[in-house]
Amino acid sequence: MKLDVDALRYLSKEDFRVLTAVEMGMRNHEIVPAELVERIAGLKHGGTYKVLRNLLKHRLVHHDSSKYDGYRLTYLGYDFLAIKALVNRGVFSSVGRQIGVGKESDIFEVATEDGTILAMKLHRLGRVSFRAVKSKRDYLLHRRSYNWLYLSRLAALKEFAFMKALGEHEFPVPRAVDCNRHCVVMSLVQGYPLVQVKQLQNPDEVFERIIGLIVRLAEHGLIHCDFNEFNIMIDDEEKVTIIDFPQMVSVSHRNAQMYFDRDTDCIFKFFSKRFHLSFHYDKDGCDDSDSNLEENGRPSFWSIEKSAGFLDKELAASGFTRKDQDEIEKKLA
Ligand code: ADP
Ligand code: MG
Repeated sequence: MKLDVDALRYLSKEDFRVLTAVEMGMRNHEIVPAELVERIAGLKHGGTYKVLRNLLKHRLVHHDSSKYDGYRLTYLGYDFLAIKALVNRGVFSSVGRQIGVGKESDIFEVATEDGTILAMKLHRLGRVSFRAVKSKRDYLLHRRSYNWLYLSRLAALKEFAFMKALGEHEFPVPRAVDCNRHCVVMSLVQGYPLVQVKQLQNPDEVFERIIGLIVRLAEHGLIHCDFNEFNIMIDDEEKVTIIDFPQMVSVSHRNAQMYFDRDTDCIFKFFSKRFHLSFHYDKDGCDDSDSNLEENGRPSFWSIEKSAGFLDKELAASGFTRKDQDEIEKKLA
């Protein structure tokens, strides 16, 4: 989706006031009745209706009259609210080019007042490729009834909280700068997603480092759950950075082992295919340092000493609660 931030400049205080009123109304209405928007916005002389027409023209709200006359925010409207809040807070001052399109996100460069470039990730749950969801029917069934804006906000909050906590434990992740609504601001990673890297100086070393990260995450009680060549960035020094955290789960999750093995498998398959690494397990050479490897040379989930709940405190400190985790898991599982 194109993000035409130019329109941001043309929006008046009243426009934002009404846009915010629609957002507030959406806390308990899927479609917010126009009278409710008017009541919350509190503009004089029916001014709300004129403003709503303007917001509609800029596609910041969607008009729905199927059941009653009402409005809901579009993703663009939600983007504008988040961007404005972050600009007001001084987190950045302008939005630049788009640098990534994920399955369920758009990533842009943003610039701070002093010219530092950061990355801004806008979560877009509900914009899923059919391949990525359990079943098309299931998806279509829920497409309308889910509150995607709410879930996107939860995903952003989770991503921000995990990125911050992981950074504090010295995992190689982008620096978590700030978060508002469905938007996460983080440092810009230099380098490329591993999927684009055709050659490495030291594929063995990079491989070991990546597998080491999966193991260390598990030791901290966590599984990434989408650990693959799209979510690992490599720079010119072959330094690794992990990104994309909304789907992480605890090692105490009932499917933890399956997720752990799937993450590990992805990396083994990718390195074997792209860099022709072969993985032979040498039984004779087995010493203590190899003791958490299985016969196929994969790290074994059960022999890792895990401290579940280790990051809970840090996560809660960012405002992401266990209840949020349960809710997001239930909806996205
Ligand atoms: P999704 O959850 O939609 O997969 P990601 O977080 O994986 O989103 O981001 C999608 C793409 O955007 C990545 O593959 C990467 O190319 C780019 N990207 C994401 N975060 C950053 C960042 N902090 N710095 C540079 N590029 C990034
Ligand atoms: Mg990704």
